[in-house]
Amino acid sequence: MKALQVDGLPDVLRGETPDALPSHTVRFWFSGRPAPERASNGMVTGAFVNNYFWVSTIQRPFIEWADATGGSAIECHQYGAIAEEAEGLSDAVLLDRCRRDVERIWPGVAGTCIHQHLLRSPPGHPDFRQGVWSRLPRVRTELPNLTLCGDWIDPDRHSFFLERCASTGLEAARSLALPLGLDVNAIPPLLEPHPPSAGFEAYRTFAQALRRRGLLPSLDR
Ligand SMILES: Cc1cc2nc3c(=O)[nH]c(=O)nc-3n(C[C@H](O)[C@H](O)[C@H](O)COP(=O)(O)OP(=O)(O)OC[C@H]3O[C@@H](n4cnc5c(N)ncnc54)[C@H](O)[C@@H]3O)c2cc1C
Repeated sequence: MKALQVDGLPDVLRGETPDALPSHTVRFWFSGRPAPERASNGMVTGAFVNNYFWVSTIQRPFIEWADATGGSAIECHQYGAIAEEAEGLSDAVLLDRCRRDVERIWPGVAGTCIHQHLLRSPPGHPDFRQGVWSRLPRVRTELPNLTLCGDWIDPDRHSFFLERCASTGLEAARSLALPLGLDVNAIPPLLEPHPPSAGFEAYRTFAQALRRRGLLPSLDR
């Protein structure tokens, strides 16, 4: 965590910024198709990527290419610990490990890779380790007409990444509307989150009780 510094506004904005982690984006183009067979546990356990999208099914240039060729294309993301581990690897090794995971999970594309691409992004992915959240700056600041939104602003409700950007952006816009003489009703309100399931709530109560008794470490700092 670093203290938030804004030129000319020392100590006015309370909070800190989370550390930033690297992220990697890899793309594979296959002459084959992923369906129909696939490993039942997908990317969930042990894969060298955190996230993936079969872009040949959702994004136009890839869809057109797949329609024209009968092939398929996937984009995979690494962030957090996996991206840190991959930092020390050569491009060839990183791509190879990711491609082997994809091929293992979707045997339909095994051995059919015809093109691959790796983008190493500079560190910019927020590191939300335990205890970080309560130290982030909040949407409303002490300065008139200055609100904050985005990835590393305390959203006041549980959300991550894009959802967090959108929800803090809406909250920031709504709190500025009145002082700026704009119609606050023109800006959609935030949807109320679904309450946690009964089982989760019970476990949370149990964990909080253990923490109060010092049997679990505090996660706040
Ligand atoms: C590889 C990867 C995969 C991801 N996948 C997902 C996902 O699947 N789902 C999800 O919810 N989230 C995902 N995220 C996270 C998501 O992209 C971010 O949470 C979100 O984009 C952050 O939005 P933001 O508006 O806070 O910041 P950004 O989107 O980073 O926008 C900040 C903007 O400010 C601009 N900028 C910076 N400095 C200046 C300056 N001095 N002057 C002018 N402009 C400036 C930047 O160019 C940028 O356009 C992913 C992120 C990465 C890196």
